[in-house]
Amino acid sequence: MATLDFEFRNKILGNEIGTTLAYCYQCATCSGACPVAQVTEGRYNPRRLILDSLLGLKEKIFGQDNVFNIWGCTVCDTCDEVCPQKVELTEIFIILKNMSIEKGEAPDYYTGQASTILENAKAIPMQPAIERRRDQLGLPKIIEPDVAEVKKLLEMTKLPEKLPKSTE
Ligand code: SF4
Ligand code: SF4
Repeated sequence: MATLDFEFRNKILGNEIGTTLAYCYQCATCSGACPVAQVTEGRYNPRRLILDSLLGLKEKIFGQDNVFNIWGCTVCDTCDEVCPQKVELTEIFIILKNMSIEKGEAPDYYTGQASTILENAKAIPMQPAIERRRDQLGLPKIIEPDVAEVKKLLEMTKLPEKLPKSTE
């Protein structure tokens, strides 16, 4: 039987944006509008994630078997726009994602992308093939970012400490 974890729930409710969690009356408008819920035929379900958060059902949210429950969200904000109760779903899910990162449960594709940005100051490093194609299309040269400066900023956010050692 699932355990209710009030400390976890209060941690979300204690956040300024997280207080909106309490306004949810489970109408499911968010799930009906969520593109990920539609594509996955309900396997990803923002209404359920909000309910589990409200009840403090931490073990249904975290853990390696539940990774998709949180990380399936693409942060498109559609649910926020349609929620009749103005629940800040996307921000609440970011709180959950941050907790998931603290637990070392973020999916590899997220931490891998974060490592790429840390090392290159961009999500997709420039490659000769891309440069050649841009030249052929007559597109202007890309201005390279200041990698050292971006790295310094990301270090101030403690990003490197949150990445798995193997991907640093
Ligand atoms: S649309 Fe808003 S009120 Fe309705 S279930 Fe989703 S979060 Fe709750
Ligand atoms: S922000 Fe996330 S939960 Fe909300 S509609 Fe988009 S994918 Fe679905």
